[in-house]
Amino acid sequence: MNIEVWRGDITTLGVDAIVNAANNSLLGGGGVDGAIHRAAGPELLAACRELGGCDTGDAKATPGFDLPARWVIHTVGPVWYGGDQGEPELLASCYRRSLEVADEIGGRTVAFPAISTGVYAYPKAAAADVAVAALRSADRSVESVTLVGFDEATVATYEAALRAP
Ligand code: ADP
Repeated sequence: MNIEVWRGDITTLGVDAIVNAANNSLLGGGGVDGAIHRAAGPELLAACRELGGCDTGDAKATPGFDLPARWVIHTVGPVWYGGDQGEPELLASCYRRSLEVADEIGGRTVAFPAISTGVYAYPKAAAADVAVAALRSADRSVESVTLVGFDEATVATYEAALRAP
């Protein structure tokens, strides 16, 4: 699987699936979730209502509606409580489950935001290490993953994580 890093707004990417850092209700929020709902249009919220929420560490797909991406894979990252509440395992599960869902819907190109590193306060460098390790250990048919950094600091954490052996 090819892993690349890109800086910008995930809602502009014409990949098969973009991943949303959602909350347990899947009924919308701020940050990347709000941006995805605005760009996809109101049909996305209607589709999310049908899903009945999502557990932390799990992932569920909807169409992308007005987005250039065909699908949105909604995953729920852990809130950071200091690191000993299962946060690394739950964050790794978000990446693994998102790739499994991408596989199920036939997605070959997938873009991820930096799950949990916004209002959920997961430290950025640690989150990048978890993301890269989880993606590298995945055995999936997804061909290409784009790690999207909305800011330069996040991009730098991904580049550092990918340089590590
Ligand atoms: P969480 O609740 O999982 O922490 P947030 O949406 O608050 O989710 O933040 C997750 C990451 O998404 C942060 O690094 C934030 O800077 C980034 N982000 C916010 N908007 C966008 C966007 N339009 N495209 C890509 N990343 C974004």
